[in-house]
Amino acid sequence: MSDKKIACITLDTEADFLDPTGRIRLFDDDALFNRYVSIIKKYDVKVTSFLVTSLIPKHSDSYRRLQEQIPVEFAIHSHMHDMNNPCSRADIEESVRAYRNFFGQNPSGYRAPVGQITREGMQTLLDLGLRYDSSIYPSFRPGHMGYNNLHLPVEPFRVRHEAHSIIEIPFATLHGLRLVFSLSYVKLFGWTTYDWLMKIFPPPNQMAVLAHPHDYYFHLLADQVTAGEKPLLLRNAKSAFELFENIIIFLRGAGYEFEFISGLCDYLETESLPVYEMDKVIH
Ligand SMILES: [Zn+2]
Repeated sequence: MSDKKIACITLDTEADFLDPTGRIRLFDDDALFNRYVSIIKKYDVKVTSFLVTSLIPKHSDSYRRLQEQIPVEFAIHSHMHDMNNPCSRADIEESVRAYRNFFGQNPSGYRAPVGQITREGMQTLLDLGLRYDSSIYPSFRPGHMGYNNLHLPVEPFRVRHEAHSIIEIPFATLHGLRLVFSLSYVKLFGWTTYDWLMKIFPPPNQMAVLAHPHDYYFHLLADQVTAGEKPLLLRNAKSAFELFENIIIFLRGAGYEFEFISGLCDYLETESLPVYEMDKVIH
């Protein structure tokens, strides 16, 4: 595996905690938008944003505005973000269609809702010829939204089925420990914990670092949320932007370049990636 350190900062652009009206405060509220943009600009970060494509008509002006302000590339994060049927062929095909109607080209990457990539979903990505998927937590989480991917690598690999293959860019986890390294997890456990753990269990050389818009301001929507994990989501909510900045400063200090996922794929295509058969990736 290659030594070059490349971090992809990603934003899963979906409704705030799946708000039924599709609201995204990051785009409604200038203070939030400007704060986000200022951090991205300050550290020359590139952002790969995965769009829930059914929201494109509602937020298209915001996506254009974001493009004018920061280096951002867009990929797809399903059409409906349907947690009951997360990666159906019909949903992914609809998402590709909606993306193409807006951007005039096919998306190169996909991220499954809550990382719940299924066989049907992966097969659809292979059939449609997408360049990469970024859905796999190489970690373990119990429960009905859970996963057990401890058999998979923490760094990028290729998923193959018959004649086709696709690059998988896993979510960042700490090497060895396999603790997820995302904004929501850093909020949950605090920066001191991560700063200490990462000295012993550094993150992988190449990875996707996840945040959602609502991870930056969960305290502003807490009144509408009744989920059992609400107290956990509120932890460090008001310092989310500072924690995000800590993540960026840490990565820069550790020698990571910030790249779009497509840029990481350009680099990976010059390397020999480990290949995993789809049957071994998704049971
Ligand atoms: Zn999502």
